[in-house]
Amino acid sequence: MHEVSGAWRRAARGAGLLTEDGSAVPTIFAEMSALAGRTGALNLGQGFPDDDAPAPVLEAAREAIASGRNQYPPGRGEPDLLAAIAEHQAHWYGIPLDPETEILVTAGATEALAATILALVDGPDDEVVVFEPYYDAYAALVALAGARLVTVPLRWPDFQPDLDRLRAAVTDRTRIILVNDPHNPTGAVFSREVAGEIVRLADRHDAVIVTDEVYEHLTFDQPHVPLSTLPGAADRTLSISSAGKTFSVTGWKVGWISGPAELVRAVLAVKQWLTYVNAGPFQPAVATGLRLPDATFTAIAARLRAGRDTLGAGLRAAGFAVSTPAGSYFTVADAAPLGAVDAAAFCRELPARAGVVAIPLTAFASEAHRDEYATLVRFAACKRPDVLEEASARLAAAF
Ligand code: PMP
Ligand code: GLN
Repeated sequence: MHEVSGAWRRAARGAGLLTEDGSAVPTIFAEMSALAGRTGALNLGQGFPDDDAPAPVLEAAREAIASGRNQYPPGRGEPDLLAAIAEHQAHWYGIPLDPETEILVTAGATEALAATILALVDGPDDEVVVFEPYYDAYAALVALAGARLVTVPLRWPDFQPDLDRLRAAVTDRTRIILVNDPHNPTGAVFSREVAGEIVRLADRHDAVIVTDEVYEHLTFDQPHVPLSTLPGAADRTLSISSAGKTFSVTGWKVGWISGPAELVRAVLAVKQWLTYVNAGPFQPAVATGLRLPDATFTAIAARLRAGRDTLGAGLRAAGFAVSTPAGSYFTVADAAPLGAVDAAAFCRELPARAGVVAIPLTAFASEAHRDEYATLVRFAACKRPDVLEEASARLAAAF
């Protein structure tokens, strides 16, 4: 009988990632998409868009495949994509980057996160601080790296952290403060005050800040401000992003990480042995995307903002209390006014009851804090207007 090897098995079991027979526990997203498939319900669960990528991005991928760019790209990434990422960071945020030493292309943001955590943490005494609820991969990756996850709760309805709790969570054991902004699952954009405190704490305790900015172009009320642009942050911040959300190509898995050369070098040392390289013909296509006119990016955000508004109005009309997100694909709603006491049970019943699939926020919470999110549900707004209208009508009819 073949099994997952010892160290990984222990870490994965401890983190609830493996079943008794050693199989991977399916992610909540896979489970809920399968439920949508089985029941024919509208899938407002897993965060993938109905839209396709901008036409020039798709054309560039077709062209790259047709012209034979189908073999291993260089280890750090296609030079043209590295240049386009540097141009993008300079153009949107005024961040200067050397494409040869300060940027690395990865297999999605997920590989950048995995390689960074594996590169920087050193055993069970090292801690990674995250806001909770958190994207599910964070807890899994920290567990697989053998480190400890320390969480700072975000509270309904604005999901900003309490600064005293943040201060208490960061100590000399903290190796990484991992900040997802805009935030999945809550849609929060963290205030300047919170961002400033993160930088001060990282400096005081000599921690590395790792940002997950995959929703950087999906903010609704204010432009995205990368944490690395705050005074004192650039020297200790690794910034991660991905093409998936910005260009509606979640299946391409092209991500990148940028920051100080010595930190990027450490991440490359791990990434090289995870995938070596990835997504050959999609790299030039993403370079094309990153160089599209500003209007393309603002149109993507405007479309999603309209989706957020349609979904928010629909959820309110159906009787949910709604937290209006400042960014990301997602809207969190409280199902307590509809009589729900357990969001997981509510979401399991929702396809039969209303023909809609959503994700319980408890799936993004540690066991210790699950109760705090007991009646909250995440809905994805990255769907076509007619799908959001139909979902709203179904929810209104069901409750
Ligand atoms: N981080 C967050 C916060 C996400 O929501 C996602 C999901 N798309 C990822 C990382 C993973 O990104 P990728 O698909 O580029 O690996
Ligand atoms: N990021 C997406 C979400 O939060 C899904 C990613 C996945 O399926 N792993 O819904």
